[in-house]
Amino acid sequence: MNKKGLLVIVSGPSGAGKGTVVDILKNDSRFALSISVTTRAPRINETEGVNYFFRSEDEFKKMADNKEFLEYAIFCGNYYGTPISYVNQKLEEGKNVILEIEVQGALQVKEIFKEAILIFLTPPSINELKHRLENRATEPKDRIEMRLNRAKEEFDMMDKYDYIVINNEIEKASNDIKNIVYAEKMRANRNLYLKNILKGDEIKC
Ligand code: 5GP
Repeated sequence: MNKKGLLVIVSGPSGAGKGTVVDILKNDSRFALSISVTTRAPRINETEGVNYFFRSEDEFKKMADNKEFLEYAIFCGNYYGTPISYVNQKLEEGKNVILEIEVQGALQVKEIFKEAILIFLTPPSINELKHRLENRATEPKDRIEMRLNRAKEEFDMMDKYDYIVINNEIEKASNDIKNIVYAEKMRANRNLYLKNILKGDEIKC
């Protein structure tokens, strides 16, 4: 199989359960999770360098000017960006790199990395989404409203994605993503170098 890892983008509205699903994937040694930089304030349960690298707007803009991001976007008033060096390093190591990012960033990455896989994670219903956001209690009421409005815009972008995974049950949703990635790795156009088998080259799996 192709030794280089795949770039896997997981998007979906706040409350879709991206964080939890991706947490399961990152425990698999074949995957690496990119940690983003944000200007958003840390939530009570978040740690610097684990959930995000928390930076001021000035620091973020400097990083953007220095071309340190693969992509970046503004989401509900805060900047979020993917540091490019980690992504390149892990792909070279053969890891499948997961970016848990919103739709504008996802589409920017697809422009640069045509071979990236775009997965949209959705909750089973809008009521379930509301329920999850309210129960999370990490955000004030007006922010929840903002995120719900934003969710509607994100649903409109679903057709730009390669796959849609319904997050009814976390283990199943993360397995669905793993299965998508493994099937993608076996795509003929990603493995045409195997033609060299005819020349007697040894193929390493
Ligand atoms: P939250 O504030 O809930 O942690 O994240 C808000 C949104 O920003 C989520 O949809 C999350 O996927 C997205 N996000 C997190 N990191 C990045 C990033 O580096 N780039 C982009 N474009 N979106 C991100």
